[in-house]
Amino acid sequence: MKNLKMKTLTYSKNIFLPVTDLCRNHCGYCSFRKEPKDAHLISRSRALLLLEQGAQAGCSEALFTMGESPWSVLGFDSILAVAGVADLLDYLVELCELALELGLLPHTNAGLLVQEDLQRLQPYNASMGLMLETTALLEVHAKSPGKRPDLRLQYMAMAGRLKIPFTTGILVGIGESRRDRVEALTKIANLHRAFGHIQEVIIQPLDPKPGTALEKAPLPGMMDLCWTVEAAREIVPPDVAIQVPPNLVDPRPLVAAGATDLGGISSVTLDGINPDRAWPDEEDLHRSLSDYNLRERLPVYPRFIDLGWHGRKTRSLVNSLAGEDGLRVKKYIF
Ligand code: SF4
Repeated sequence: MKNLKMKTLTYSKNIFLPVTDLCRNHCGYCSFRKEPKDAHLISRSRALLLLEQGAQAGCSEALFTMGESPWSVLGFDSILAVAGVADLLDYLVELCELALELGLLPHTNAGLLVQEDLQRLQPYNASMGLMLETTALLEVHAKSPGKRPDLRLQYMAMAGRLKIPFTTGILVGIGESRRDRVEALTKIANLHRAFGHIQEVIIQPLDPKPGTALEKAPLPGMMDLCWTVEAAREIVPPDVAIQVPPNLVDPRPLVAAGATDLGGISSVTLDGINPDRAWPDEEDLHRSLSDYNLRERLPVYPRFIDLGWHGRKTRSLVNSLAGEDGLRVKKYIF
């Protein structure tokens, strides 16, 4: 029995579905994006297999991710044609419906979208997301038109006006200064004060990848990450979770610094952005954080379930997966 005074930490159990790795941007740290000749669209059969495996493993979240505006890249039409798909957004909706049928709640990060496309996805998603990453104009984003901070802030405001529970965050170690981090966190906080839709802010350390411009960049140190988590906790309103990824960094010092969420972990799929960084085992996580009340949550936070902001087609599944406190119904005996 957990002491009720223990600090509560949350995480979700997900599967990662890379819808397409075609992307119009060329971020200087990315190993996810592929050139058109190597790019792919996830097949229905592959998506079905992952969703079935996720359901069997007790996951509640289907994390759909894709490169940004792939339709603006030469070669996109032939990738769609080979896969027998007429329209990418229709296909994404179809995959979200499949996830819901199999008992997983979609959370989609599709990069910048126009409002019409965001509204097409909204009913099928428990929550959605887009990393702000930074508000600084950095060399690593020189060839990434979609990483313009003003565009990303506008998109996040649009999601707020539509009342979409939203996940965002910053990247640490891509050439930004501490002052830049404070500015990005302040902009996120201001968006939340205006619209009330931010559910979590990820503090994501750079994990340098071979073959990228930042391959030799130093890993952000723990002291720097703790400073950033403390700053985030101070700047961002208290009803917004501060999330750290437990496959990239030891979460314990960061939890002590103010982090309250560990994001999605998976026993089925790898971290699609950092496939060389294995997820911690769920049971091990409970053991190493036994000083805390570690609870599984859904991809939508309890407050937004109360508000009814999750997509209308996710309602019956959310209701069957959430307990009275809005977290996932489950008893742990670890
Ligand atoms: S937008 Fe995302 S997928 Fe595209 S290059 Fe940048 S990090 Fe990679």
